[in-house]
Amino acid sequence: MAMLKDVKGIGPKSLALLNKLGIITIDDLVMHYPFRYEYLERTNLQEVGEEDKVIVDGKVESVPILMRFKAGLNKMNFRLISSSGVVGVSIFNRAFLKSSLEVGTNVIVIGKFDKKKNVITASDIKMGSLSSKVKIEPVYHVTQGLTNKNIATYINMALLQFGKEITDYIPEEYINKYSFVNKRLALNIVHNPPTTEKLKEAEYRLKYEELFSFMFKINYLKKQNKSNNKGIGRTIPREKVEKFIESLSFSLTDDQKKATEEILKDMESSSRMNRLLQGDVGSGKTIVSFIAMYSNYLSGMQSALMAPTEILAVQHYNNLKDILKNTKVNIALLTGSLLKKEKIEIYKGLENGEIDIVIGTHALIQDDVTYNNLGLVITDEQHRFGVNQRANLQNKGIKPDILYMSATPIPRTYALTIYGDMDTSIIKERPKGRKKIKTYVKKNSEIKEVLQLMLDELKKHHQVYVIAPLIEDNSETNDLASVCDLKDKMKLAFGEYYNIDVVHGKMASSAKELIMQEFVQGSIQILISTTVVEVGVDVPNATMMVIFDANKFGLSTLHQLRGRVGRGNSESSCILISDSDTERLTIMEKEDDGFKISEEDFKLRGHGDLFGTKQSGDMTFKIANIKDDYDILLRAREDSEEYLNCTTNINELKLKLINSINNNS
Ligand code: ADP
Ligand code: MG
Repeated sequence: MAMLKDVKGIGPKSLALLNKLGIITIDDLVMHYPFRYEYLERTNLQEVGEEDKVIVDGKVESVPILMRFKAGLNKMNFRLISSSGVVGVSIFNRAFLKSSLEVGTNVIVIGKFDKKKNVITASDIKMGSLSSKVKIEPVYHVTQGLTNKNIATYINMALLQFGKEITDYIPEEYINKYSFVNKRLALNIVHNPPTTEKLKEAEYRLKYEELFSFMFKINYLKKQNKSNNKGIGRTIPREKVEKFIESLSFSLTDDQKKATEEILKDMESSSRMNRLLQGDVGSGKTIVSFIAMYSNYLSGMQSALMAPTEILAVQHYNNLKDILKNTKVNIALLTGSLLKKEKIEIYKGLENGEIDIVIGTHALIQDDVTYNNLGLVITDEQHRFGVNQRANLQNKGIKPDILYMSATPIPRTYALTIYGDMDTSIIKERPKGRKKIKTYVKKNSEIKEVLQLMLDELKKHHQVYVIAPLIEDNSETNDLASVCDLKDKMKLAFGEYYNIDVVHGKMASSAKELIMQEFVQGSIQILISTTVVEVGVDVPNATMMVIFDANKFGLSTLHQLRGRVGRGNSESSCILISDSDTERLTIMEKEDDGFKISEEDFKLRGHGDLFGTKQSGDMTFKIANIKDDYDILLRAREDSEEYLNCTTNINELKLKLINSINNNS
């Protein structure tokens, strides 16, 4: 196989520099895509000023005259007939071009124009003519010692010498289906775009290829998981489960029933469950997970439920205790704030099997936790757990079934990619009787009006959440609203008649707990908080949420936050305060479907703030961009799945695709 050093012109020095840019193989080199293009427009020489940079095309009119100077320097002069008339061209140190600059040759000249002398001092001369008015120049990431031009030259040389050997990962049937150009040509075009249209086509093809191999990998892993992922095949006493469901104070929605059935089937099946349960805030995922844990208990096994925050763990614990109060299920709460003694007690119970269900935070997957018979692990709001934690979980116990719950509606695009190897259940339908939360975007200058709206709610004996992006003002340059700041302001406005308090992530969890409890009981009327309430408690009497500097949050987060109100029978509202980015925020006024909101947000802001930066690093592509190339991704996903399933014989390309899994993961 040809190597980078085999490309003509690449010596040891440039090889080292290319390596520095992460370019190790010929493939890396030809896929060192321009990070942007410069669009050079044909200049009308009549319209330019003194010493302007110009680009003109035309025919060589006179035989170039070459002058040689000392130290090997040289200069060449010729006349050019351009669309702006005849003009002189001089260029330094390109003697080697002389033979190609015959009279009548079409050339493109880039340089500086001296209007008085009517001469262009060229920095570059290219063969050919501007096929349209615009010349598209690729701009590459470079490094000291390696110019844009060097890189372009190496790439073009590599394509010339080895272009035929570059693997095309798109199967022939799809190349034909979409009438794609061959890979070599596509690469040639992105590095030397003749027109914008051609460039678009070539880019599309290369993006499709990249996403096709990526989705092939995900689909392949999914299939692998299915075929050799032996799990627990248990028998679930279905009548008992039915009875339990009937004992609930409400009946399940159709979507909840469907999700429950999918989960129970997975648990009965001998292959391991790896399922994502997606549903909007308040869609009722929790009860589905409780049914799963109860079923697991009935078949004699332990369950663990992991929550992202202590507040939420406590809430799940209390709910589950209440729902299972007439049963013998032994439930424990394991959180970071327990005393060592208490923790050890719980560890013992988990090890000897006395505890049937344990609910907690990250503490559940720490190394000193051993289970007696762990059959089911559920993580709530799983996007908050990093990939490593996920892996750690999978290594616990005896290959437990795994259910991930996400109340943040992950855009479909993401689910398809990051979680594409999982099965998914979706709850779309909401429990009956839910009202839409009225949402308004307001400017900081309208604060008086906002305070009045708050007062109206408080007078009705309702409670209000106030959200700020910061805990305290930690720098003078930062003028974002902070919890501490707002506490003072709210005290000034309402302190005389109403109780106001604060919760945030840096408080001790016992203190947080106490204040949350007071808010639940109604002794606090205004709760000021950071996003810690995002996945927090259920307070039906809270009917208004005011979010300061709302533009600092992703729409999905805002949607999650506002899901804290509208839980009772009264009409609820959410006020988003921001002076900028209001167009994006108005999506919140119109839309109350969390899935649609996250799709919109995703299109506008990309994936960066949906997940931590760590996770977004998992998703880097060379040419595709998961945000802009959504449609291509969907197509590639469908095609790669079809390809994986339809071709029964393992062919050479399939093997290459499978092998590429190890390389680019
Ligand atoms: P999420 O999907 O955000 O976790 P929850 O499970 O917390 O939603 O449900 C929100 C509220 O709706 C809870 O108080 C829950 O008891 C209630 N609930 C869940 N399912 C139903 C249903 N089918 N009918 C009525 N209320 C329901
Ligand atoms: Mg929930």
